[in-house]
Formats: sequence, structure tokens, C-alpha cells
Amino acid sequence: MTGLADLPLREELRGRSPYGAPQRDVAVRLNTNENAHPVPAEVVDAVAEAVRAELAGLNRYPDRDAVALRAALADYLGHGLGVDQVWAANGSNEVQQQLLQAFAGPGRAALGFGPAYSMHPLLALGTGTRWIGATRGADFDLTPAHAAAQVAAHRPDVVLVCAPNNPTGTALAPATLAAILDAAPGIVVVDEAYAEFARAGQRSALELLPGRPRLVVTRTMSKAFGFAGGRLGYLAADAAVVEAVQLVRLPYHLSTLTQAAGRAALAHRAALLGTVEAVKEQRDRIVATLRRRGHPVADSDANFVLFGVAGDQARVWERLVARGVLVRDVGLAGWLRVTAGTPAETDAFLGALEEIA
Ligand SMILES: *Cc1c(COP(=O)(O)O)cnc(C)c1O
Repeated sequence: MTGLADLPLREELRGRSPYGAPQRDVAVRLNTNENAHPVPAEVVDAVAEAVRAELAGLNRYPDRDAVALRAALADYLGHGLGVDQVWAANGSNEVQQQLLQAFAGPGRAALGFGPAYSMHPLLALGTGTRWIGATRGADFDLTPAHAAAQVAAHRPDVVLVCAPNNPTGTALAPATLAAILDAAPGIVVVDEAYAEFARAGQRSALELLPGRPRLVVTRTMSKAFGFAGGRLGYLAADAAVVEAVQLVRLPYHLSTLTQAAGRAALAHRAALLGTVEAVKEQRDRIVATLRRRGHPVADSDANFVLFGVAGDQARVWERLVARGVLVRDVGLAGWLRVTAGTPAETDAFLGALEEIA
């Protein structure tokens, strides 16, 4: 039988495993930060109708530039953004891959502040980009001085920074983003996958776009919109950045069905985003309950919570699985990450953890 080792694989891919959170067949799955609430019936009907209307036309390629969908996304984002400043692809991961293809790649480098989103270094790997693992301080904070010093020392072609950060949930201070923008010689990508879950008073980097052509904000319909299976991510930036990613995108990368589903979903966004407050309530309940029980807990502006456990987190993870609750071991010694789900799922998680730790 042929194994991977027998193939002429790129050197840097040898010995690697593909991205993937361990999936276990348990009742309560709180490990991938999905929205636990199913798509509302009103949206199901609208998406079905929109998709059906396109089916006879599937003999033709889709709109290469997804103009109608991008106009709907621009309208959702507001901030005076026009269709030429918004770009969409199959998930924000693909958007970020296109950004690295356009602005990084062989001979260039990208930098991120770990612990952060584990896909960022993998996207760098896949695009032949050198990855620079910069760091955060104690409590996972990122001060303006620490961020700027690392960016200035490495002068990366692309900086990727999550706001709020995954897996910690911590917001990005406006002064830190300003310091990164000042220090960075190249593109700065702010990954705002969880922006809709932010607590009151947090600002989006969208506000900073005017006059900053090297700033890119990426968003997704996978989390707050509860549309992860629809695979739709997007960016907002200067129109020149949108021109740049069009140089590397595959022709017809976004199917007619995805574009139609996305437009229909956005037309019903109030219904889709209607669960955000309920999820935030569960998040805040997890934070408050775990703190009361003495767990260290990182502040969260997302739909998940990073919490500390006594002893080996991998053992606590296994014992939670044994009780039917799947959370995420992100490889941080003494910490686990749990997604805020439905009230019943939160009950199950809090109950199971209390029995263990
Ligand atoms: C979940 C997540 C995404 C979403 O990726 P999609 O490809 O849009 O599903 C992006 N960035 C971060 C930090 C995430 O946690």
C-alpha cells in the first residue's frame, strides 16, 4: 500500500497532520465554536427558495465576482463601505488564504501572536509563507509596546491578529491595533470572526479602514450567523486589496448555490442574528460560574470561554468526554476552551465539570 512517505510531497508538509478538532460522538458538542441554534424556519424557507430559483441555470458558471452577494455584505457591514471594498469566498479561511497568496508566499513571511487561531500558521504553510510565531504576555494580553516591538523586529509582509482572539476570547485593545498598524511595513489582517459577540463598548477595526489601504478586516457567517455549513466568509478593505485577491482567486470560486444561499440568509439577518444575545448570556454565565468556583477564566468577547483547570487539561478533557461533553483542548497546559451553546448544553457542561474539578 502506498503511504504518504512514498509520495514526492513538499518537504515542509512531511510528517504533518491535517487540521481537525477531534470529533467524538457525544451528546453535547462544544468544541468548534459553532452557533448551537439551528437555522430558523423562516431562513430555511428563504434559502431553499433562493437556491431552487438558481437550479435550472446551473449549466452556466456563477458570477465570478459575486457582485450581488458582496453588495449585500457591504450593506450589512455599514461604515459607508461599497461593493468594491468587500470580497467574499468559501469561508474566511479561504479569504485569508487568498490574502497570503497575494501578499505573502515564497520568500515572504507572516506573523501572528500566539496562542491564536491554529489555522493561520497552517495557511502560511500551505502558501509557502514563512510563519513567525510572535507571543502574548501573561494572561494572554497583548500590550501596544510588546506587539509593536515584535512586528518591528521581524518586519513581516503580513500580520494576522484575531479580534477577539481565539482561543482566549480576549479583545484587541484599540491602542494595540494602532501600534501594530504603525509598526507593520505590510498588510495587517484583523480576523473579526467573532465580532458580533463583543460586549458593549468594543470597537471594530472597520472604523479604521478609511485612509488605511494596508488594513484588512475579515469576517464570517460561520459563527454569529449560525451558517458555518454555508461556507461564506468575507473581507472589507481598500478597493485595491480586493483587486489584489482577484489576481489569485480561482475562477468561479464561489458557487451559484453559495451566492444565492448567502444573499437569502443576509436578507433575513435579523432572524439569523437573533440568537446572538442568547449565546452571549450563556457565555457570561459560564464566565461568572467558573470564576465563582475558583477557575481562572480569560475575559471573553466571543462565543467561547477559555478556562483553567487543576492538573493535566488532557485528563479533564477525557473525563468531560466520558460525561458526554466535548470541549476543546487547544494544547495550552492547564487550559480548556468551551463554546457557549444552548442553556441546556451549558447546564450539561457546568454540571459535568463540577463533578470532575
Ligand atoms: C471560526 C474561525 C474562523 C471562521 O472560519 P470560516 O472559514 O469563515 O468558517 C475564522 N477565524 C477564526 C479566528 C475562527 O475562530
